[in-house]
Amino acid sequence: MPTKTIQFSSSKVQFHFDAEFSLITKYADKNNAVIITDENLFASHQRKFGGWNCIVLKAGEEYKIQPTVDSIIEQLIAFGADRQTTLIGVGGGVITDITGYVASVYMRGVKFGFVPTSILAMVDASVGGKNGIDVGVYKNMVGTIRQPSFLLYDYSFLKSLPENEWVNGFAEIIKHASILDKQMFTLLQQNKLSSFRKDKTLLSKLIQRNALLKAKIVQQDEFEKGNRKLLNFGHTLGHAIENTYELSHGQAISIGMVIAANLSAKYTGFTQTIELIQLLEKYGLPAFAEFNAEKALKVMQSDKKKSGSSFQFILLEKIGKAIVKSLTTEDIRPIVKQLS
Ligand code: NAD
Repeated sequence: MPTKTIQFSSSKVQFHFDAEFSLITKYADKNNAVIITDENLFASHQRKFGGWNCIVLKAGEEYKIQPTVDSIIEQLIAFGADRQTTLIGVGGGVITDITGYVASVYMRGVKFGFVPTSILAMVDASVGGKNGIDVGVYKNMVGTIRQPSFLLYDYSFLKSLPENEWVNGFAEIIKHASILDKQMFTLLQQNKLSSFRKDKTLLSKLIQRNALLKAKIVQQDEFEKGNRKLLNFGHTLGHAIENTYELSHGQAISIGMVIAANLSAKYTGFTQTIELIQLLEKYGLPAFAEFNAEKALKVMQSDKKKSGSSFQFILLEKIGKAIVKSLTTEDIRPIVKQLS
């Protein structure tokens, strides 16, 4: 089981790759830990949870909200959870986001760790210490930046992951490749989703590469003053259409990346939009959707990443090289209208 330790500004995070869930007892005391998971995970992997205190949430983004946080806190109090309790989020990004957030505020902060179970959570959501909840249509409007103590990767959870969630996760993998890793972009072009699903070694290498790639970017810029912003490629508009149109995260981000690639063509001279679209489509992701451009721009204007009257937009110069560019709504509008 390869373990990598990444030192962030305030704490160390241990990444236990290729691990088995049962090893979690090394990192958390079963008698003073609470697992937070969702009903899908609990139903498919019940045996793994035997003997643990569990809080089982309804599954889905619509539950990543304050009332869920309140109900978790009430259950933690009922379990007698104290400052020594470890919270373990076992699930997709919704579960890791909520668990990290609750752990940051419960008794002013308790230890927490993650067992990410979706591709998206493994390569993205569980890595980096951002934890939060949604408010209305505004994604991750409230949250904290605080690192988990450990992440444990047990790929056997993926046996029950629905097909569309594999596709969702690959949107973030393609994002990572597009902004930072040309070689990985080529690797993705040479393979297809089913190759990664069938070949455990290929998959575990890809997941480790992506998790560490994100961890390193965050390590350089934990509080999003510089390079971490690059990870928002496709997200500014993606988030705006995700909650408004009930697209999956991956689908919305995919469409957001195509819009950002088209903006890149205009502002950086990026020439590889077709390659990006082909790769997204190869992995079952949409390049376009019908949406109301004005409505999306309005939601985007309320996004927390806005600074003054302009947006910090992530554009590509070429595959593997992204930059941050300040753009106004007026700069963005024509291309968003053209692609909506
Ligand atoms: P999710 O947690 O809703 O999981 C998607 C679905 O897959 C759910 O129905 C879940 O029950 C199910 N699932 C997950 N693992 C499973 C498994 N192994 N077997 C069976 N079913 C399984 O969502 P997600 O796509 O994992 O993550 C999306 C969330 O992550 C969003 O809320 C997004 O905002 C957040 N996110 C956070 C960050 C961050 O830095 N904090 C980064 C990216 C995304």
